[in-house]
Amino acid sequence: MRCPDLSGRRSLPCGTVIHNEEWGWETMFQTTIAGSLPKPGWLAETGKLWPRWTQEGAALEQAKLDATLLWIKLQEEAGLDVIGDGEQARQHFVHGFLEQVEGIDFEHKVEMGIRNDRYKAMVPQVVAPLRLKGRVHAVEAQFLRAHTQRRTKFTLPGPMTIVDTVADRFYGDRVKMAFAFAELLNAEALALQAEGIDVIQFDEPAFNVYLEDAATWGVAALERAAQGLTCTTAVHICYGYGIQANIDWKNSLGEQWRQYEQVFPALARSSIDQVSLECMHSRVPAELMALLAGKDVMVGVIDVANEAIETPEEVADTIGQALQFVPAQHLIACTNCGLAPMPRAVAQAKLEALVRGAALARERAQGG
Ligand SMILES: [Zn+2]
Repeated sequence: MRCPDLSGRRSLPCGTVIHNEEWGWETMFQTTIAGSLPKPGWLAETGKLWPRWTQEGAALEQAKLDATLLWIKLQEEAGLDVIGDGEQARQHFVHGFLEQVEGIDFEHKVEMGIRNDRYKAMVPQVVAPLRLKGRVHAVEAQFLRAHTQRRTKFTLPGPMTIVDTVADRFYGDRVKMAFAFAELLNAEALALQAEGIDVIQFDEPAFNVYLEDAATWGVAALERAAQGLTCTTAVHICYGYGIQANIDWKNSLGEQWRQYEQVFPALARSSIDQVSLECMHSRVPAELMALLAGKDVMVGVIDVANEAIETPEEVADTIGQALQFVPAQHLIACTNCGLAPMPRAVAQAKLEALVRGAALARERAQGG
């Protein structure tokens, strides 16, 4: 079976592993989002990172799929090349996974400082050996695959970020617990691949916080989570959603944000295919992208901490900066992070800005 591509680009067999180098100039700078999109008010509270559902039971399950379909179509209309489920079926990117894991006590949450105490969160506790209760994201992954003919991406939390978002009362060792989670993530990732998902991305914002640990065991745990996958694998490392605690943290990081410098060499040596990073309006020195030689780089060209809609020129300029350090065939245009807490209309306009900016960058590259 071949997937017709609605943008008029080359069609490809469904589920084929495609890396950017297989594409010509006309398909340079593919577009995709980091992961999450805002939930409509008929599904959950709006404007929040940990929103409460506004439905229950069967109505909630239906609303999750309706919202997923809405965003699949809006991503297609905007012209994105790789389509996600917008994480509409999970309350939060970490806890959505944990809810299907045995050995975690959700009844007795405790307050914990997470991301090196950047903010406090009520987190569940690991109290027994970890096991999957069953599939985690089968329903929404199959739904995504059934409702778009474009390439699909599905996101999972990375093992290091998970261990930073739960309280450990059982393993007594972060690394051991991270590898236990990595095994469970791997089982889910292999099942997602079997369902026809093309790109499986692990979200590891913790890599930007625990820099030494990320390089010494974080990347190894990530590779364990991705073991045996033949689809495209990716990792997203950002400076967090555009919430106040993150904005304050970023303001404390100085003139140059060099956090990526420690983990990128380890990722360049790893088996992971793509790395998603923050670029637009960030103080990350662009030359750090050169440390990812050989990888596809998903360059964040859309700011998620600012509601102003990027112009095509701004997006194309950011792509242009990255092109000094990333070969064109390895550059994918992406958002800095998820768009979840933003107003829906802003998120939609930002998807369109992403696609228009990538198109302008393509014109510039061809013209030059
Ligand atoms: Zn992010």
